[in-house]
Amino acid sequence: MTHSGPGDINGEGAPGAAVLVIDDSPDVHRILHARLRQENITFHSALTGPDGVAMAAAMNPALILLDLDMPCMHGLDVLAMLKADSATHDIPVIVVSGNSGPNDKVKAFDLGAVDYVTKPFEMTELRVRVRQALKMRQLIQMLAQRAQIDGLTGLWNRSFFDQRWSEEYARAVRYGHPLSLAVVDLDHFKSINDTYGHLVGDTVLCGVARILHQECRAHDLVCRFGGEEFVIVMPETTPEDAAQVCERIREAVEREVWERPLDRNVTASIGVAGASRPAEIGEQEWVDTADRNLYAAKKAGRNSVRWTDVGAVAPSVRAANE
Ligand SMILES: [Mg+2]
Repeated sequence: MTHSGPGDINGEGAPGAAVLVIDDSPDVHRILHARLRQENITFHSALTGPDGVAMAAAMNPALILLDLDMPCMHGLDVLAMLKADSATHDIPVIVVSGNSGPNDKVKAFDLGAVDYVTKPFEMTELRVRVRQALKMRQLIQMLAQRAQIDGLTGLWNRSFFDQRWSEEYARAVRYGHPLSLAVVDLDHFKSINDTYGHLVGDTVLCGVARILHQECRAHDLVCRFGGEEFVIVMPETTPEDAAQVCERIREAVEREVWERPLDRNVTASIGVAGASRPAEIGEQEWVDTADRNLYAAKKAGRNSVRWTDVGAVAPSVRAANE
């Protein structure tokens, strides 16, 4: 099983990067389509500015080729609209225009175009510029993603968690969908570091990250919260199901045979807070409840899972193996 982890965003260089052409001339669409066919591009066509803006928001293309001279809305206005909307703001736009005056060029770059190609275009040149723009976008996405990856374990980091937890919480409340959150903490981790050194400690953290990766489901978001603490966001998951997944994780961590010099089992305590229906509970309070359950698990002797249905009328802490 694989969880939804870093590294599974499709690169825009992958086959069929979607390119949206906004141009009032059907001939231009035909030519571009024919001449850029070998580029692994899926073409989408809009013949007017308003259509182009709507399509861009709906399909989030990897690149937009934009004409300036169009009857019902000028290309620069289209560009301004694309850059003003957060849904389309980051899509690179190459302006392809017969208007080669310096004013339009300057305005286009000021508004956020990544490139400007003059019509009639030299096909070889356009092809290279399209490739460059797609490559650049892929690079930017990769860097943005790396900023959210934990350097040691390769899991999502805390900044990613903070952002996604808010989003998943808002979605669950709005649509009344189930949602669960698990906080995983390794037992006596400090003594592993103290006894065997930090390198062995790091090996354990990476090993646990691998186990979390294996035991979680495709839509779970596994994050390293800091130190020896991990959090798992489980969308569309009832607290009962979340507790079961966590019990499986707890068993797998305990079962793991570690390489020497580590000659002991590693165990984990896990606190879960979940709701089958939207709960009268705040986003931070939800996290605090999972945290409290983690400490209940520690207090009960560690190596255990404690969970609460925060959507219940009278939430109570329960053990996963009850
Ligand atoms: Mg035109």
